[in-house]
Amino acid sequence: MIKVTVWNEYFHDDPQCDKCDARSIECHPNGLHETVAAIVRELGEDKVSVRTAVQKDPEHGLSQEVLDDTDVLIWWGHMAHDLVSDEIVDRVHQRILKGMGLIALHSAHYSKIFKKINGTTCSLKWRDGAYERIFTINPTHPIAKGIPENFELGVEECYAECFDIAKPDDVIFEGWFDIGEVFRSGCTWTRGYGKIFYFQPGHETNTAYWNPHVRKIIQNAVEWCYNPIARPYMDAPRIKTTLEELRNGSEGEYLRHF
Ligand code: ZN
Repeated sequence: MIKVTVWNEYFHDDPQCDKCDARSIECHPNGLHETVAAIVRELGEDKVSVRTAVQKDPEHGLSQEVLDDTDVLIWWGHMAHDLVSDEIVDRVHQRILKGMGLIALHSAHYSKIFKKINGTTCSLKWRDGAYERIFTINPTHPIAKGIPENFELGVEECYAECFDIAKPDDVIFEGWFDIGEVFRSGCTWTRGYGKIFYFQPGHETNTAYWNPHVRKIIQNAVEWCYNPIARPYMDAPRIKTTLEELRNGSEGEYLRHF
């Protein structure tokens, strides 16, 4: 069972928020977190359990208890990155190092947690309302399973290079935009025991999350980011066993995990 928490800042799409806009609410009537949670739930009740959390929840819905009970955290944020507390970002970061996966969607490229993981500005070029086609440039990667060589996304916010990120472990998808731009749309990293995937589609007033290939990519990413073998290593063990003890047949408290 993969335990997934979907986090959304919930400003554009929250009818109670003075910064909300009608088009975002129309696209995400139950909030963008519920839109994404529904995608993950399609993996099946026997495979995933999904909870949601938003910025205005106590501790942004990301208490230590919740994070310890989360295998994969999905993050969507845009206009309110600065309102996420540094203490909670540190908490999320520590949990990633100990094996929690992170999927950063769309404008989460500027979230505090994504910038912390990269150690760079995570800046990019952008323009609203372009046409995008996504190319699968690493078809053997598990996140690309079942995804065609390329597919039409339609109208999406253009994100363009240079994307100032740390060198990814893999670039799986490349976005092409009809205004003459390209972008590394799907990239992975590892930090500690945590596996991280960034995926560009998902502007709040567009309909990328209803594209079947986008849904499948997010589902694949949840499965790829899940790292159950990380759990035994949550705290770095001291190597207690001496060479003499090993020679005398001791398995060693640390080495026996391998
Ligand atoms: Zn956007």
